[in-house]
Amino acid sequence: MSLEADVLVAGAGFAGLRAAIAAAVSGRGLRVIVVAPHEGPGGSSFAGHAGSLGVLAPDSDEERDAIFERALTIAHPGTADPALVRLLLEQGEARLRELSEWGVPLATGRRGERLRRVACFLPEMAVAAVIPDCVAAHAALMRVALAAGVEVLPGFTLAALGVEGGPPGSALCLDAFGGVVPVRARSVVLAVGGPAALFAGDVSALARTGAGQTDAGQTGAGLGLARSCGARTGNASFLQFLWYEGAQPFAFLPERAHELEVAGLDGVPAPLPRALREHVAARATHAPWGWGLPDAALDAYLLSLMTPAGVVPVRYRGEREPRLLSLMAHAGNGGALIDGDGRTTVPGLFACGECATGMHGANRIGGAMVLAAQVFGHRAGIAAALHAHSALLPPPPGVPEGTERQPSHHPLRLREAMQRNCLPGFPGEALSAARPSGAGGAATSVASFISGAERQRRELELFVERLKALLLLPAVDMLDRVRVLSALTVAEHRLRRLRAECAAAVAAVSPA
Ligand SMILES: Cc1cc2nc3c(=O)[nH]c(=O)nc-3n(C[C@H](O)[C@H](O)[C@H](O)COP(=O)(O)OP(=O)(O)OC[C@H]3O[C@@H](n4cnc5c(N)ncnc54)[C@H](O)[C@@H]3O)c2cc1C
Repeated sequence: MSLEADVLVAGAGFAGLRAAIAAAVSGRGLRVIVVAPHEGPGGSSFAGHAGSLGVLAPDSDEERDAIFERALTIAHPGTADPALVRLLLEQGEARLRELSEWGVPLATGRRGERLRRVACFLPEMAVAAVIPDCVAAHAALMRVALAAGVEVLPGFTLAALGVEGGPPGSALCLDAFGGVVPVRARSVVLAVGGPAALFAGDVSALARTGAGQTDAGQTGAGLGLARSCGARTGNASFLQFLWYEGAQPFAFLPERAHELEVAGLDGVPAPLPRALREHVAARATHAPWGWGLPDAALDAYLLSLMTPAGVVPVRYRGEREPRLLSLMAHAGNGGALIDGDGRTTVPGLFACGECATGMHGANRIGGAMVLAAQVFGHRAGIAAALHAHSALLPPPPGVPEGTERQPSHHPLRLREAMQRNCLPGFPGEALSAARPSGAGGAATSVASFISGAERQRRELELFVERLKALLLLPAVDMLDRVRVLSALTVAEHRLRRLRAECAAAVAAVSPA
């Protein structure tokens, strides 16, 4: 068996379905195929979570300008391209209107007006509309895709692109039984979602367990697939990490900041240091850890007190039982670097949704991802169809001997290793922020801070070397190989960031 398409779309989330619809409508007559591991609502777009998603929906130039400014401010220490942020904001409304016409529900108030709520990292404005029913959204997008002539093929997982140095459309998929299926396509749209599944603490896994599902088809392979055929990636380690208490995000309550107690490694609860208490109000305005933001000192403090079991016991004073917090990977802000038309740096390879970046940097405003999937999915689909009109169909790639059948399991130890090595923060970061004044105390905490940071850097360097060694082993299966490459891309980016963070922090805490 083999597959042949003019436009191959990998992934059936918001981004992939949107790209496929745009490719089929604009490419009239082109064969557009969507492959995804499972049938039905999957990915972060449609599986698990409480069933509703926020989507940025500014409705005036004033709001667009405010979002633009904030998006670029919080993009640091990552990088966002102002032109992509502008496109996102200027074309978002047209895409939302289409969604609405297609039957994707957007929550409305009593008079039929679009409901909007405040968004993470932009608490002063209610600019995020709400998609209240993700399963209904999936059904509506599928109806439109099928009507446009898109062929949606569940049961296929993209495992290799640009095989044997060929163009991206020279690809290999795994079928539902692990059989390797050669694929040839004139252009490829990568829409396989984000890297959270590379971590043991993965919110989408938690959410789908809660919904009674076992697997939402997340592979975490986007960065690896892009990199395997030479596409440049960016912002790779800037995932959103959230503190979870059981299956629920932990809420920082500013009015109870003075009551918050954290158990140290000795298990004895102690009040949050005064210097960190003042961050609780800002921290309460965004669910994910804020990369590079002052209130990250609070998260780093919690992380520095994590027990070997991976939990941080906290409580509000008077509570008998500790709340056990764990840090969970939620969604990525990094991915393949794209231009305004979803083109990666490799001709014939397009990317959109959570596996593309440039419209967000280190942090992103709540609701910006779902909007980005719509705006850049649409643009990538059109550009991929245009490319397909003039591109040659590559020859079918050969299946290397002895690899005709492949397991698609996710190596658990890789996920645990990612959880150990690629979380944000580093030892001592918060301790230095909260250190007691006075020469002796400062000197001690500076020394322990530097040695902790050095140790973490060395451990991460070792982890990077191990991942590279793993890639040299022929026994590593095809899908695992791109996952390991994804993990390596995250880890290398984290290492570069860690070196920069350590250097800056050492300079800041060292006595003049
Ligand atoms: C709990 C939770 C809440 C969130 N809330 C919000 C919110 O309110 N607002 C917001 O903007 N964002 C939110 N996000 C993030 C947002 O939902 C996702 O980033 C976005 O939906 C991603 O869309 P996507 O199409 O790029 O990827 P996904 O929806 O993840 O879809 C990826 C698709 O690719 C498939 N796939 C994976 N690997 C392969 C492969 N190798 N081959 C073929 N197919 C593959 C998957 O099965 C799936 O079909 C949230 C995320 C989570 C987990």
